Amino acid sequence: MEFKEVAQTFERLERTSERLELISILASLFSKADSSNVHMIVYLLQGRVSAPYTGIEIGLGEKLVEEAISRAFGVERGEVEKLYKELGDLGLVAEKLASNKKQMTLFSEPLTLERVYNNFYRIATASGQGVVDKKVRLLADLLKDASPLEARYIVRIPIGRLRLGIGDATILEALAVAKLGDRVYREDLERAYNYVSDLGYVARVLFEKGLEGIREVKPVLGIPIRPALAQRASSLEEIMQRMGGECAAEAKYDGFRLQIHRDGDKVWIFSRRMENMTGLFPDITEAVLRQVKAEKVIFEGEAIAYNEETGEFYPFQVTIQRKRKYGVEKAAEEYPLKLFAFDVMYVEGEDVMDKPYKERRKILEEIIEKGETIELSERIIARGVKELRDFFESCVERGLEGIMAKSLKSPYIAGARKWAWIKYKRVMKSQLSDTIDVVIVGYYKGRGQRAKLGIGGVLAAVYDPKTDTFKTVAKVGSGFTEEQFVELKRLLDEIAIPHKHPRVVSKLEADVWVEPKYVITVLADEITRSPNHTAGWDGERGLALRFPRAVSFVREDKGPEDATTEEELIEMYRQQKHVKVEEGEDSY
Ligand code: AMP
Repeated sequence: MEFKEVAQTFERLERTSERLELISILASLFSKADSSNVHMIVYLLQGRVSAPYTGIEIGLGEKLVEEAISRAFGVERGEVEKLYKELGDLGLVAEKLASNKKQMTLFSEPLTLERVYNNFYRIATASGQGVVDKKVRLLADLLKDASPLEARYIVRIPIGRLRLGIGDATILEALAVAKLGDRVYREDLERAYNYVSDLGYVARVLFEKGLEGIREVKPVLGIPIRPALAQRASSLEEIMQRMGGECAAEAKYDGFRLQIHRDGDKVWIFSRRMENMTGLFPDITEAVLRQVKAEKVIFEGEAIAYNEETGEFYPFQVTIQRKRKYGVEKAAEEYPLKLFAFDVMYVEGEDVMDKPYKERRKILEEIIEKGETIELSERIIARGVKELRDFFESCVERGLEGIMAKSLKSPYIAGARKWAWIKYKRVMKSQLSDTIDVVIVGYYKGRGQRAKLGIGGVLAAVYDPKTDTFKTVAKVGSGFTEEQFVELKRLLDEIAIPHKHPRVVSKLEADVWVEPKYVITVLADEITRSPNHTAGWDGERGLALRFPRAVSFVREDKGPEDATTEEELIEMYRQQKHVKVEEGEDSY
């Protein structure tokens, strides 16, 4: 396939502000692909060359890209930098230089998708001596033969500035339309994708084996399964009711979720976002080999740092320090981890995800041998609200976050937030019971003091997986320091787009719209009804956060589709009403 087709599609995607059009533009590109190259399009659309779990990232810094531009077009670095300052986008710089050049050279080989993809793949995996020069050469090689429009995207891909905001669900839907003729098949594709979190793999299976092949997709050792997620309920009574009078209840640990794969001596450890984190957990790897009595297995647990002296758990921040400042070995020594195993998906070649929780738990108990590092999550079978409440209270007393109620009969539902798991946490009455993770979809330039920073607040949204859209819920202007605002503006300007993104549903206008990409965590006093916001829209009004304040900067561990969902927000709104009623009763 010629790369021109891809570049033209990117341009059309950039221009549209309609979600359905987004799907049909993409579908028409997919329908021109075949099983040998469809995965290339899928990855490039997301600025990658491989699935996230492989850890293979293109990741070229701007300076190297400037160098490649300078070499490809035979202009001084200073000239490239000057143009960059003027145009604010290296993609446009390359486009401009390519169009100057085009007037002079008539003969250049048309670029193919395959060549572009392969060069990027080689850039991502290059190593050894002279690696920097090699990467620059590979990029310059593409730019030399690129048309102006192609040059724009060839430059934007390695620096992560495609700004297309295409999520997994959009791609799955477009693949369904292209190959099976109907959006409804997105569900089948999604099921396959939940088993193997690799869109390229799913696309290839679809193109090679059709719907039947897709329906046969099973978990694969070494490729992470998309994790099951929990709903939240407003009371223990509600949980019991939803569970039909009986359920399992497990302690909810505030740690780091890990999905562990083992194939003989080989162990992989994946994060909740399905990144390969094996290198960070040598202690857990070793414990898996020691304590797990199954050669081929996929299971899940929560890792949490604890104090060996007192047996107390450390807060989440301490657990993840390992990721940041500390050397891994040192952290493993200073803050040893415990892994509380809570589910199993695959044992000795058999996919056990469809077995009911009760049976999976039994398997887990059989394969995990007692030991220092790995333990089973603490749990009871609760019959009735009283037993559930006693367990919840004993968990909270011991400093745990709360409980996870699990339906005894339910299968492991990968990649979805379903009522098979319901979380229930401590409630703080002065504020909402929980923080909310929102996606930034635009920003405001700010007035008064803030005007000099050029940013005064952001327009924030929750995610609606049913329609794959982001619906606004708040303007967030407090909680950031001045330095954070400056940094935030810099990040957002890199992903600014000229109009509202097609996946954003908003009644408000932002001063600057951005690709939905960054997640921040906010706290609010209350959720109220508001005609201005589109989240939880009931025909007249939506839901809004009252006095929202950021309690985190941009979350590196969450993508836009990991934000709080619209359904969760509605549930929190209900929960808050419930707490209010209880408070009212208390005061009489
Ligand atoms: P939340 O992050 O608040 O949506 O809660 C869901 C998370 O709780 C999961 O992703 C796990 O990381 C964590 N968790 C802690 N303990 C358990 C448990 N026993 N079962 C399932 N998830 C747990």
